[in-house]
Amino acid sequence: MNNYTVQDLWREFPNDDACLEWVKEHRWPEGIYCVKCQRVTRHHRVKGRRSYECDYCRNHVYPTSGTILQKSTTPLTAWFGIVHRMASTEGATSARQVQREIGVTYKTAWRMCKLIRHALGEHIRGVQAGRGAGGTDVKRGSAGKGALAGSPQGPARTRLTTVQFHRMLAKVFSINV
Ligand SMILES: [Zn+2]
Repeated sequence: MNNYTVQDLWREFPNDDACLEWVKEHRWPEGIYCVKCQRVTRHHRVKGRRSYECDYCRNHVYPTSGTILQKSTTPLTAWFGIVHRMASTEGATSARQVQREIGVTYKTAWRMCKLIRHALGEHIRGVQAGRGAGGTDVKRGSAGKGALAGSPQGPARTRLTTVQFHRMLAKVFSINV
């Protein structure tokens, strides 16, 4: 089983365009249905905006609308980075670490962590439960860091597959896959 590492993350999502493209592709795998043209049409990326424009009628669609990314001005790469960190540490990621590593304010980091942890809640517990012993005492919020450090397996380092990570991204960004 391959482990989806930070290097894999950077390779797959080197910039915000790549992140947005991923959200678009997974939200509309059959192509974008244009409400004005009333059919699936070709769309192209709009520079400087998180949107795609219909080639025919120029109607804009926003892949992040209705998701926790909607109103955020924080780069999408930061969101993806935190999801990855949460996924590979079973939620044991603090707002301080995010603040330091991603370079956002503490308030922003705290909010992002809260939203992502909330969205991933079941997934994090699911991964944990799958590991067997110690799976039930993961607490939300503190994310069971203390419990994990004291577990026989040592600090939590889940092997994360590409499929698992993509599922978690989809979950966080409310995309049905
Ligand atoms: Zn159109």
